[in-house]
Amino acid sequence: MVVHTWGFVQSRPGSPWVKVELRAEPGAVFRVSGLPYAAALSSFARIRSALQSMDVRWPGKALTLHVHPALRAGEINELDVPVALALLAIRKNVGPRSLSGLVSTGMLFLDEFSEWTRPARESLRHIMDTGSLQLHRAEGSAHWASDPWIVAAMNLCACGLHPERCACDPAEKRRHRRNISAPLLERFPIQLDMGGNDPSECPKAWEACKAWVQDARVPPGTWTEEAMQLANTMEKRAMMSKRVHHHLRTLAAGHAQWKDREHVLIDDVQAAFDVLWMNRSGWWGSP
Ligand SMILES: [Zn+2]
Repeated sequence: MVVHTWGFVQSRPGSPWVKVELRAEPGAVFRVSGLPYAAALSSFARIRSALQSMDVRWPGKALTLHVHPALRAGEINELDVPVALALLAIRKNVGPRSLSGLVSTGMLFLDEFSEWTRPARESLRHIMDTGSLQLHRAEGSAHWASDPWIVAAMNLCACGLHPERCACDPAEKRRHRRNISAPLLERFPIQLDMGGNDPSECPKAWEACKAWVQDARVPPGTWTEEAMQLANTMEKRAMMSKRVHHHLRTLAAGHAQWKDREHVLIDDVQAAFDVLWMNRSGWWGSP
């Protein structure tokens, strides 16, 4: 059985894509071509431990890993995901169709978001707006569906310490925040400060939370006059763009749904505003 996947080498100029071919045959040999043997072994060791933590057994077969174009030793780290997906396909944990579904939907978690290069971060805007990924490289062009939930995390400042022990001056903090442009930031409807420890229990059980996320009912479309006035005032004071304005309305209606209300109330608008904190004017001003 042969599985083909692909990935990018971000550390190279132009982030070229690399084809990954994994072949499984009877036996127990491990062959490699297109990268150093020791680098491939260390990649497999990482993936093996990740798969074991998900109770996925290693394919008991002779494996041949071929990558094209050839990679240097450190570069295979950037292709752990396509190699892991090829292994899952070999194990028949995912078929070719669900393999494509797995990589085009699901959840994409981007850690240390502010440390990414600006072009890599900003290129997400098109994917978030269109649900599709178009790539143009010297090797050719391609178009894929790409519609995951995108979750990104960053520290509030470059030192990454707790705000009370932070070693950055205000200018450094502002520079760090401005790594993330306003047009990109406002495409994230929910923004949470994860720095504190909130010991309070969620008022709903996990199953009820999942049902709320998957709830296909139309959220309440009617607002009380007070709620509408509060939303208007917030939008004016925070000088919200049309996109953020839309998020505020959608989140308030979603919160009303969480509370099983038929109308959107002031509480719902306030709850929506609380999770839009990076879009408020204070985020860009003095920290
Ligand atoms: Zn700091």
